[in-house]
Amino acid sequence: LFIAFEGGDGAGKSTQAAAVQARLEAAGHAVLRTREPGGTPIGEKLRSLVLDHGHGEIDARTEALIFAASRAAHVQQVIQPALERGEIVLCDRFIDSSVAYQGAGRELGIAAVRDINLWATASLLPDVTVLLDVAPDDGRDRRLAGEAAEDRLESEPDDFHGRIRAAFLELAAARPDEYLVLDARAEREDLTAAILERIDGLLA
Ligand code: C5P
Repeated sequence: LFIAFEGGDGAGKSTQAAAVQARLEAAGHAVLRTREPGGTPIGEKLRSLVLDHGHGEIDARTEALIFAASRAAHVQQVIQPALERGEIVLCDRFIDSSVAYQGAGRELGIAAVRDINLWATASLLPDVTVLLDVAPDDGRDRRLAGEAAEDRLESEPDDFHGRIRAAFLELAAARPDEYLVLDARAEREDLTAAILERIDGLLA
C-alpha cells in the first residue's frame, strides 16, 4: 500500500506521516516512512543541490529535472522494494508536489511536469494521496512558528503559493477516489484519525 502526503509548506505533512506510522506500527504493520525530495543518499544530495541554492540560481526546468531524478532513484531503490516486501509506504511528497511547485508554481505546465515524472517513476502512483490543504498565509505562520528555517521559497510572492494550492486541489478534484482532502487547520488527532480510517478501508 502506497500513501503519499501532499500539501503546501507548513501543512503538517511530516507530523501526520509520523503519527500515522506510529499508529500503524502499534497495530502490527510493517511501515516505511520516507520523504521527497530526498529519501536515498543520491536523493538527499539532489535535495541539497536544489534547496541550498538561492532563488534564481537554478532555472525552473533544471529544478524540475533534478526533483524527477531524485524521485526516480527513490522509487527504484526504496519505494518499489518496500512495496514488494508488502510494507505500507508513507511518502512525504510525491509527483503531485512537482506538478504543483514546478508545473503550476514555476509555470512549466501541469502536463509536461506530470509526464516527465511518470517516466521517472515508471508510472508508479500512490494508492491514495492525503492532501493537507493549507492557505498560503496559514502555512507561512505555521512554518515560522515551528523549527523550520526560513527557506528559499519565503520570498516568493503569494500568488506563487496560491497557484500551488490551487493545483493540488485541482489534482484531487480530477481523481476524487484517489485522494483524501483534509483541512490542515483541523485538530492534529482528528487528522490522524481520518487518515487511519481511510488506510484501514484500503487494508480491509
Ligand atoms: O516538504 P519539504 O519541506 O521537505 O520540502 C522542501 C522544500 O522543497 C520546500 O520548500 C518545498 O516547497 C520545496 N519543493 C519544491 N518542489 C518540489 C518539492 C518540494 O520546490 N517538487
